[in-house]
Amino acid sequence: MTTLLVSHPAFLEHDTGPHHPERPDRLRAVLAALDDSAFADLARVPAPEASMAALTRVHPQDYVEAILGVRPGPGQRVQIDGDTVMSQGSAEAVVRAAGAAVVAVDAVMQGRAQTAFAAVRPPGHHASPAIPGGFCLLNNVAVAARHAQAQHGASRVAILDFDVHHGQGTQAVVEPDASLFYASTHQYPLYPGTGSARERGVAGNVVNAPLPAGTDGATFRAAWRDRILPALDDFRPDLLIVSAGFDAHAADPLAQLEVETEDFVWLTREFLAIADRHAAGRLISVLEGGYDLDALAESVATHVRTLARG
Ligand SMILES: [Zn+2]
Repeated sequence: MTTLLVSHPAFLEHDTGPHHPERPDRLRAVLAALDDSAFADLARVPAPEASMAALTRVHPQDYVEAILGVRPGPGQRVQIDGDTVMSQGSAEAVVRAAGAAVVAVDAVMQGRAQTAFAAVRPPGHHASPAIPGGFCLLNNVAVAARHAQAQHGASRVAILDFDVHHGQGTQAVVEPDASLFYASTHQYPLYPGTGSARERGVAGNVVNAPLPAGTDGATFRAAWRDRILPALDDFRPDLLIVSAGFDAHAADPLAQLEVETEDFVWLTREFLAIADRHAAGRLISVLEGGYDLDALAESVATHVRTLARG
């Protein structure tokens, strides 16, 4: 069955400046890796702009309007916080990044695709409903989860986050709502400093597995196998959304986990098995971090090949 790839040239116009790790070359590397005959069977659609209705299921309207109203002139940038920047092209990029996740949900919930990958930037999992941060402005996966519930009748949506940083923005949305589930492995201590195993949500619907610097792939797999996947299985999601950050890779310059490409493949297969068991195989994956271009490109390519059951 079909796997969908969603992206847009606007994501290259989010200009974070000459020395920023979250840079357009990341997406160029990802798209170059997916522009290969091995991926000829992917269905490809451009990312639409998310509607205000979709965005305001997660973010207050005045927050969305404030973010989308940041329109610096050509070549100029506005510093949103210590490490989050917007350029002239950023507003369109952020609204299409959320739109990519929304259209991916539409495709899998309507049965036009079984799985989907949204190759987007900026990432989203550090964006809380009214607080940007960590390179993130709108929370793409949270918008996607709420869209699945509001427009497609999904009753239980799980968000699985293997980015090396804890997705505190996503957790803030999930924590009070037992119809959502959030699980994360992440290096700890590390930015943003949240993600203790004691943070469990209103109904045990948050599962955090913090990992110390130097954690290898075997321990990373064990955290998912022993601590997270059984709780995910018990939750019985009818849609899986993956916050796919590849900065836990051993080659990544921003963190110190020792995860390898094959570990991401193993985890992707585990997600698909649970999607098959509870969700008719429905899974969408949305790019978050990953800052070593070669490791990112290779990891995304093998992740997407696995999603396509290749
Ligand atoms: Zn990250």
